[in-house]
Amino acid sequence: MTTIPLDKHLNFAAPTGFVRLVGAGPGAADLLTVRALRAIETAEVIVADALVSPEVLALAPASARIVDVGKRKGAHSTSQDRINEILVAEARAGHDVVRLKSGDPLVFGRAGEEIAALRDAGIAFEIVPGITAAFAAAAIAEIPLTLRGTSSSIVFATGHDMRGDTLPDWAGLTLTGATVAVYMGKTVAGRIAGRLIDAGLSPATPVAVIANASRSDQEILGGELADLHRLSDRADLDGPALILIGEVAALGAGAAIEALSTHLARAA
Ligand code: SAH
Repeated sequence: MTTIPLDKHLNFAAPTGFVRLVGAGPGAADLLTVRALRAIETAEVIVADALVSPEVLALAPASARIVDVGKRKGAHSTSQDRINEILVAEARAGHDVVRLKSGDPLVFGRAGEEIAALRDAGIAFEIVPGITAAFAAAAIAEIPLTLRGTSSSIVFATGHDMRGDTLPDWAGLTLTGATVAVYMGKTVAGRIAGRLIDAGLSPATPVAVIANASRSDQEILGGELADLHRLSDRADLDGPALILIGEVAALGAGAAIEALSTHLARAA
């Protein structure tokens, strides 16, 4: 007869949940993957970020408990440590947990910390990729992110780095012709443009800004790097925005794109 060591036996008897780190995509519910949809539909607990669209959250079953850990204007978001604790506690309680993040969970989503916390706690998890904002934005603006002879690489960058004094590592890549997708760049748009121009990038480099990609209020603005600072003045431009920088940005959907400069003139 085989005997089961007591600790194993206890582990076996304890309820063990499961965590799925799921990419919710850019907003439109039909841009979820089938796997993401299945995960949401079978979830018992959904731990959601602020950028997850109401349209996606509406797919959760009525029985699911939704824990909102997102940052909203004027309110503090739940700290990353606390989110890690919630994921571990809910899984230990035996729940099927979905950690829902906008776009892809592994792109600027703090997934690294959550993965480490789940591993440390011995909790099984799975990662379900999603359509990241750069892909949704490029599709909407009809901008090829790579183009034979023009751009052979794509950089996913964060505007947050621009707050510091040192030029972030990605700045140099813009000079070599890479297409750069800047996340979280709206409020530092002017700073990004200024520093890239200082670093040697032409002020005439095409840029496109796609706000609320895939949502009903999506907007596409186009212009040159020298115009990008105008974005910071656009108080009316609510919601998340992605900035594409590089020669390919000039190839976007002509008429659907408003000039950064024109739009600002009209708003003024
Ligand atoms: N994990 C997400 C990124 C989270 S960081 C992803 O893969 O897309 C948040 C930033 O993503 C925002 O500041 C914005 O730059 C971008 N973003 C997210 N959703 C967006 C959308 N629908 N349209 C434009 N940009 C978006």
